Amino acid sequence: MTKKPVDIKSYTEGILSGNISVVSRAITLVESTREEHAELAQQIIDTIIPHSGRSFRLGITGVPGVGKSTFIESYGLHVAAQGHKLAVLAVDPSSQKSKGSILGDKTRMEKLSVHPDVFIRPSPNAGSLGGVARATRESIIICEAAGYDYIIVETVGVGQSETTVHQLTDFFLLLMLAGAGDELQGIKRGIMEMADGMAITKSDGSNISKAKSARAEYARALHLFPPTESGWIPEVLTCSSLANTGIGDIYNMVDKYRRHVQASGYFNRKRHDQNSQWLHQTIDEMLKHRFYNNEAVKAKMQQVEQQLSGNTISPYKAALQLLSLFR
Ligand code: GDP
Repeated sequence: MTKKPVDIKSYTEGILSGNISVVSRAITLVESTREEHAELAQQIIDTIIPHSGRSFRLGITGVPGVGKSTFIESYGLHVAAQGHKLAVLAVDPSSQKSKGSILGDKTRMEKLSVHPDVFIRPSPNAGSLGGVARATRESIIICEAAGYDYIIVETVGVGQSETTVHQLTDFFLLLMLAGAGDELQGIKRGIMEMADGMAITKSDGSNISKAKSARAEYARALHLFPPTESGWIPEVLTCSSLANTGIGDIYNMVDKYRRHVQASGYFNRKRHDQNSQWLHQTIDEMLKHRFYNNEAVKAKMQQVEQQLSGNTISPYKAALQLLSLFR
């Protein structure tokens, strides 16, 4: 049993030496909404950040039931067999322990969860998308500093969180079912447009031919999209996580992409752009938080709200008055 880390030194040393229990505790800190935790978490992140970044980050999404957990189990085992240390994280702001929670039930990843080179972390159970996204981003940094060089970030393909995962990762893989109706299974066009690659899941038994035609159909659909900024042409493959077929091909496709974008410089450019986006997003959030928690603003807010309902001030003028109080 490792001693519970208490100060920043024991946290950072534990993380840098790859101590899983310290890594877990550090992630709990970055997920915490308590102010004293936030401060310590930020000190840890600041200290370890020079040791982060040296990994490949793969985002995976798809509607519930498409086979994400099963896919990550076999894909993850393949990744580990290639000599990587793998961390699996999740972004799922809606997650409830009881139902639908991604990675909530690690028994769905029986072999992967006990693999010595694999770390699996379920999504934090509550919180806004912004909060969960920040925690996931910092969890990636912690895992990388701990020596994990392949990071998978999973999300449920039902809403906003795909954009977040896209912002957090180098390659965005969309899992799709064959023959589930062409309403694109609730996957919006915008999400398909974000994909660097797609995999048609459950291509086994009597489903193989359906999977093949879905592959052709989606490949055609992807060709209609404008060329990607990276110059990479998204590919569509088929796989079966249960029969363990096509999994290596998907790994190779992702790896081909990695080599392509690392050679072209796009890889670093995209990482830089992502950091820059996070900077601006964080500034937006901090400004908003400070503004609404400013005592003078709070007092004045009540007053202008009343004036607004009496139509004695315009929202524009009210906003100017409030902002002038906030220096
Ligand atoms: P998730 O909700 O996207 O994480 O999906 P799961 O991984 O939990 O899988 C949903 C269902 O599809 C489960 O019953 C799995 O056993 C089944 N499934 C997953 N992968 C495959 C596959 O490759 N072939 C077949 N035939 N079934 C699969």
